[in-house]
Amino acid sequence: MNRRLESEPESGPASTSQRAAPVGEYDLVIIGAGLTGLSLACWLLQLAEDGQATLPRVCFLEPRTSYSNDRTWCFWDLEPHPFRDLITHRWFRWEVSQGDQTACQSDRAAAYAMLPADVLYRYALAKIEEIPAFDLHLGVTVSGVEHTDDGALVSADQRRWQAKSVIDTRPPDKGQLMSGVGFWQVFSGLEVTCPKHGFDTSTATLMDFQPGYPHPCFLYLLPLDEDHFLIEWTAFQPEKESASDYRSDLELWLQRQNLGYYEVTREESGSLPMLRMPTAQSFGRVIRAGVGAGWMRAATGYHFVSCQRGSAALARQILAAHASGDWRLQDPTVRAGWLDWMDSVFLRALKRHPDKAPQWFVGLFAATSAAQMSRFMNDQPRWRDALAVASALPPGPFVRAVLPW
Ligand SMILES: Cc1cc2nc3c(=O)[nH]c(=O)nc-3n(C[C@H](O)[C@H](O)[C@H](O)COP(=O)(O)OP(=O)(O)OC[C@H]3O[C@@H](n4cnc5c(N)ncnc54)[C@H](O)[C@@H]3O)c2cc1C
Repeated sequence: MNRRLESEPESGPASTSQRAAPVGEYDLVIIGAGLTGLSLACWLLQLAEDGQATLPRVCFLEPRTSYSNDRTWCFWDLEPHPFRDLITHRWFRWEVSQGDQTACQSDRAAAYAMLPADVLYRYALAKIEEIPAFDLHLGVTVSGVEHTDDGALVSADQRRWQAKSVIDTRPPDKGQLMSGVGFWQVFSGLEVTCPKHGFDTSTATLMDFQPGYPHPCFLYLLPLDEDHFLIEWTAFQPEKESASDYRSDLELWLQRQNLGYYEVTREESGSLPMLRMPTAQSFGRVIRAGVGAGWMRAATGYHFVSCQRGSAALARQILAAHASGDWRLQDPTVRAGWLDWMDSVFLRALKRHPDKAPQWFVGLFAATSAAQMSRFMNDQPRWRDALAVASALPPGPFVRAVLPW
């Protein structure tokens, strides 16, 4: 059993007047056991098994004391990753609409997939528990990381962990979030049980733009089966805090659908930064990973797929470091730089013309194919996909957004 709570020290209690001694020595400390930390754990296991490599000693530090079903990850299911068998729903058809205009795409080879967080958490935590080389410490909020001659020292309250290398998956700090253009993607979602709700279960509604708001607002609707659906109200707004109460907008919308009996069974909400993170965050033996390292796509808020790509690349480096003894890890490249540039231009244009968002998004999905959009959204477009996307958008506002004035 490798899972410990902060209130269960491994050695005797540390004196508060003394500088506490390191309590653990590891090859690697991973700060944060959210999506990135747990993805790293599962990629390490999978790649070590495939290559018959030995695992390094890894310590995961996480403030939570328990995990809940706090989010659902959706993405286009185009490439393998350790959680593929855990996907609970797939839609081969998706649409974007505004009033009576709808752009629809479908492709049997490109599913829009959904993976509930509790399923992934349960799977990854069970894997960590099975592996003697892995220790997960829950209830630990890291407060400092110091560089040492041969690695780094991580501290939390009176406890310290020495490692040859550290991967820091904590969310972006305030300084990072101050920079850059962009919006906040603020959303409020409900999972609803409603017998015979009548929404088309073969189609995911990615965006159904709602009129009458100062910034782009849309509904996101995933029919899970004939009796259940997930619905989210999303806004692209300049501030992190929502000025309006989207939960009540959502309730009002539900009431207007004349659904009859329905029951809300789960809620999820979030505020995702839609901006290009500053790049130079990693230093020496401490590597940033996850949303804090800019892995999330600025223009969409999608992160799951780039997280798998980044975690796989880091896990390969970790196994090589364990074999060679050279623990200088490098930041992985999760997507081409020109895609980040395209996103910045798109967000700049959108910021100047928020009222055009519905028209631009519907036009974009109408002028491209499902294969092109799924590759583009998943950060792996071919040149022709990127060209199709660029030429689907009106040139004037985007050319002006490229110019520095
Ligand atoms: C409700 C919601 C729905 C989302 N849906 C999607 C989606 O459908 N598709 C998609 O691609 N993306 C989605 N995202 C975006 C993104 O995929 C998630 O936010 C994802 O969890 C980010 O992964 P991460 O590892 O960077 O951060 P997290 O999963 O948040 O992990 C960071 C970890 O660091 C820990 N931590 C924080 N402070 C400290 C500290 N001081 N010491 C130690 N640990 C610390 C946190 O407790 C957390 O466990 C969603 C986000 C939210 C909030």
